[in-house]
Amino acid sequence: QHRDPNQPEFQQAVFTVLDSLAPSLEDHPEWVEADLLSRLVEPERAIQFQVPWESDDGKFHVNRGFRVQFNSAIGPYKGGLRLHPSVNLSIVKFLGFEQILKNSLTALPIGGAKGGSEFDPKGKSDNEIMRFCQSFMTELQRHIGPDLDVPAGDIGVGGREIGYLFGAYKRLRGYQNGVLTGKGLTFGGSLARTEATGFGLLYYTNALVKAQGDSLEGKRIKISGAGNVATYAIQKATELGAKVITVSDSNGYIYDPKGINYKIVKKIKEVERSRIKEYADQVASAEYHGGSVWDFDVDYDIALPCATQNEISKDQAKLMIKDGIKYICEGANMPSTPDAIAIYRENRVLYGPAKAANAGGVAVSALEMSQNSERLAWSFEDVDGRLKLLMENIFAKSEAADKKYGLDKDYQAGANIAGFEKVATAMMTQGLV
Ligand code: NDP
Repeated sequence: QHRDPNQPEFQQAVFTVLDSLAPSLEDHPEWVEADLLSRLVEPERAIQFQVPWESDDGKFHVNRGFRVQFNSAIGPYKGGLRLHPSVNLSIVKFLGFEQILKNSLTALPIGGAKGGSEFDPKGKSDNEIMRFCQSFMTELQRHIGPDLDVPAGDIGVGGREIGYLFGAYKRLRGYQNGVLTGKGLTFGGSLARTEATGFGLLYYTNALVKAQGDSLEGKRIKISGAGNVATYAIQKATELGAKVITVSDSNGYIYDPKGINYKIVKKIKEVERSRIKEYADQVASAEYHGGSVWDFDVDYDIALPCATQNEISKDQAKLMIKDGIKYICEGANMPSTPDAIAIYRENRVLYGPAKAANAGGVAVSALEMSQNSERLAWSFEDVDGRLKLLMENIFAKSEAADKKYGLDKDYQAGANIAGFEKVATAMMTQGLV
């Protein structure tokens, strides 16, 4: 707090994790002795740089680029790039910090990092996006590499942006397949990467629900967001027999009591690159409302926030309780405020935190790295099957830590502890370097 007074999101992420680690630290006094936590919360490296670019009207602009390489105890730095006007050092550090434990939970050898810029991709032409990505990579290329740091997508960075970033890297440094993940299928991308975070969220949710002797069949689900994570979460939820009744963007939300049709969402977002409002023009049973989907009062069973950080306030969490929810699993990173999480716990809503529930994206990114290394491409079924096992394993590990320390179905603390213990062991073994 003293060192980073102006980084509220970073502090929130750190305190939420530290709050849950006490039982594990009691078991490991040597970690306290070595002041491991102080090292864990300090990035190994934080890079900030200028990104000059030219818009189509010939004007010059400068944005700020970031890459925070947080922790490499268990593998090369790995984490996405975010392009959104809200991006600043606090947000990149919170995401990078969360990424350390998330990547650890996947059981794959990847460290934690995150990056991005406050560049706003909305309303920009393809050429403007390309010029921005090329300029961003002109600096970033100095700091990344297939065995050093492997960025991927996040908010505002999808297949199009990764393509431009990869092209720029190749021009500067030569062809190195494994330097970015989320690549197109024609140049080293993995099948099922696009679907991975949304599908993985549902595999995790399914495991959590099943562990309570319950099932997803017939459950009513509220989803926020209409981006990459939300779209594929809607698809998998529908395939698993649940009914998704909402989808949203930062302007408003759609309510469709008959169930959101993911194919229409895909067309609007991925082909037409339009706003979610369009959905109501195309589907008779759907209504569009302005504002937050979490203020919408309707009975449902499961909340899957898939938009952005701190999208659920204390009052909105109270509304969830009134509306009868039993489960909440996070597709977005840190979508629940600490006050909202307290409401879930008080009311015994079972809670799957982001670092466990949305780890599917980075997990398949690591599988993309494996495929790039062996110069092979696995089938969709192969990758999807591994993703499902991996997400079930993440839930199992969180549940095991919860049981070991008698936490009474606190899967948030379970995930924090399970992720932390692997990183802590690796850091201790490698010494003070
Ligand atoms: P996208 O850019 O594809 O979509 C983001 C969606 O969230 C859009 O519908 C956007 O609406 C909405 N949104 C963004 N900011 C706000 C806001 N301030 N208020 C309300 N709605 C907002 O991003 P992704 O789907 O990739 O990412 C969504 C979340 O999932 C993020 O938290 C990301 O960190 C997390 N995540 C993503 C992974 C991935 O593989 N893509 C992996 C793990 C986590 P609008 O268009 O109006 O801005």
